[in-house]
Amino acid sequence: MKLGIIGAGQLARMLAIAAHPLGIDCHCLAQMPDESAASVATLWVGHERWRDFCQAVDVITLENENVDLDFAAALHNIKPLRPGLKVLEFAQDRLLEKQAFVAAHIPVTPFHPVDSFAQLQRGVELLGLPCILKTRRGGYDGKGQYRLLRADDSERAWQLLGGQSLILEAFVNFTTELSIIAVRGIHRDVVFYPLTQNWHREGILRISRAPVPQHMQCYQEIAQDYAQRLLEVTDYVGVLAIELFLTEHGLLANECAPRVHNTGHWTIEGAQTSQFENHVRAVCGLPLGLTDLLQPSVMINCLGSMPTAESILSISGAHYHDYQKPPRPGRKVGHITLAGTGLSMAEVKRLTAIDIE
Ligand code: AMP
Repeated sequence: MKLGIIGAGQLARMLAIAAHPLGIDCHCLAQMPDESAASVATLWVGHERWRDFCQAVDVITLENENVDLDFAAALHNIKPLRPGLKVLEFAQDRLLEKQAFVAAHIPVTPFHPVDSFAQLQRGVELLGLPCILKTRRGGYDGKGQYRLLRADDSERAWQLLGGQSLILEAFVNFTTELSIIAVRGIHRDVVFYPLTQNWHREGILRISRAPVPQHMQCYQEIAQDYAQRLLEVTDYVGVLAIELFLTEHGLLANECAPRVHNTGHWTIEGAQTSQFENHVRAVCGLPLGLTDLLQPSVMINCLGSMPTAESILSISGAHYHDYQKPPRPGRKVGHITLAGTGLSMAEVKRLTAIDIE
C-alpha cells in the first residue's frame, strides 16, 4: 500500500517512519527536495506534480490543515483524502472553528468577529479586557496574535493585524493547558489517548506530559466527549487533536488540529501504539491499535537547534528525535522524550528552564 502525504515536514517524516513496519510506503507532495521527510519517504517536489503524486498512491492524508479547499477537493476526486473535507472547512479558520465547536455544544471562550476597527472596539466592549486579537487564517505557534491589556491597545493591535479577517477572544485565565488526541477508523471505531498536559511559551509548545496529575484525570471523559462530537459531525478518519484550557469552570476548547499533533509526540515511546502509527492505520483502513499508556512520559521540543545526541542520550530514559532540519531561531528542529517511572523533573527544568511541577 502507498500512502500520500501533502507536505514533507517533521509530521510527514514521523508518519513515514511509523508506516514502514506496516509495509506501507509514503509519498510526500513537497515544496523542496531537502525537507524533513526526504530521507524516509519518496518526495514529489513542486505543486505542479500533484497529479503524478495522486497516481502513485492509494490514499492521501496531510500534515498541515492549511491546504487550499479546492485543491483538497480535486485530490479527493482522484484518491480518498482523509481525514475528509468537512473538517478542513473549519480547521483553517478560527472563527468557523469556534462556530463549529459551539454548534457541537463544545464550550469555548466568548469571541467576536472583527473585520473593521469599529468591530474591534465593539468586541473589546463586549468581551472586556484582557482579550486576544488573532488572525482567522494562517496563524500558528502564536504568530498573528496580539494581546490587548488596556483600552488604548486597540489602535496598536489594529495597526499590526488590521486589513485581514480577525477574531477577538476573551482572555482565558486557565489553570493549565491540556489536549486530547482521538483516532477514528474507517469503520467508525474510535480510540482516545490519555489526556496530555502542555506548557507553551510565547505561543509555542515547549513541553507535553502524560499522564496528567491524578486530580485532572476526571477531565478525560469530558475531553473524549468533545472529541467524539467533532469526529461524528465531520465523519472523520484519522487522528484529531483538540487543545483545551482547564479553568475553574471546566474545560474550554481552544482549537483543533485535523492531523497528528505536537502534543502527541510522547506516544512514540509512551503509548502502546503511537499517534503516527494509529493515523496511518486509520487512513489506510486498518484496525486501530491500543492507546494505553506504557510509561509516564515528558516530551520537550527542541527549538532553534538540536542539543548533541551524546548530551541527551546520557540521561536515563531519554529518546532523541532529530528532524534533520537546518537550525533557525525558534524553529522546531526535533524533540526529546523522557520516559519511565524514574522521570527527573530536574532534568526537564535543566533542558527548558521551565518548572513543570
Ligand atoms: P493558539 O495559536 O490559539 O493555539 O494560541 C497559542 C497559545 O496562546 C495557547 O496555547 C495559549 O497558551 C495562548 N492563548 C491562546 N488563546 C488564548 C486565550 N483566549 N486566552 C488565554 N491564552 C490564550
